[in-house]
Amino acid sequence: MSIYFSYLGRITAVLIGLLVFHAPQAQRPYVTEDLPFIATIEGYKASVRENPDKRMISLKSVIPDIIYDLRYAGKNNFTNKRLYPKNTSHTFLRKQPALALARAAEELNSHGLKIKVWDAYRPHRTSIVFWELVKDENFVAHPSKGSFHNRGLAIDMTLVDSATGKELDFGTDFDNFTEVAHPDYPGLSAEAAANRKLLRGIMEKHGFVQFPTEWWHYSWPDDQRYENLDIDHEKLNKTLNKN
Ligand SMILES: [Zn+2]
Repeated sequence: MSIYFSYLGRITAVLIGLLVFHAPQAQRPYVTEDLPFIATIEGYKASVRENPDKRMISLKSVIPDIIYDLRYAGKNNFTNKRLYPKNTSHTFLRKQPALALARAAEELNSHGLKIKVWDAYRPHRTSIVFWELVKDENFVAHPSKGSFHNRGLAIDMTLVDSATGKELDFGTDFDNFTEVAHPDYPGLSAEAAANRKLLRGIMEKHGFVQFPTEWWHYSWPDDQRYENLDIDHEKLNKTLNKN
């Protein structure tokens, strides 16, 4: 009898799991039928089978000297809270922007510079947290629209001098929500203005678009085919390592 009951228990657990796993997407906050959206590894894999450009690429795998300072994996960010799980140690872009970023990194290397990344792919759940905190579309994307970060098409970055290991002066830190962060802000030091110009020139040459209010944010312009994802970074990383 006990075997029978534990078997029943297991079936019940699996059924509950299936119900939770396959709950209609419309029940997720801010996710409507209009938003291209994937929240499971299986869904992500199916999308990649259909279109290999949708593959997420770990940035370190294509740019070995890239520096990760994933601000939302710690508390050093505008929310003063850890927003990604503590073990988050990888970040990603879709295949085309990842390869373009690798070409930009090579060019930056020839200037004695390395890329430091603050954020790239961002699960949709984190955008919801930002929205609940800020509620201003001038600063954060409305989660019902998704975002370039959610699609794996945007990077927040700065540059580091390869010789000294120091960050270059860009005039503000990450997530400075003032007009000083606007790429063409007129009151910058000559050095900060020159650094913004150099970064922008190289990123645009390799196909990225500068965000008008944040000097550190570059996105890949083709966002139409890509779903917004809500998959944990490390789960995604394990899947990529298996393929
Ligand atoms: Zn950004």
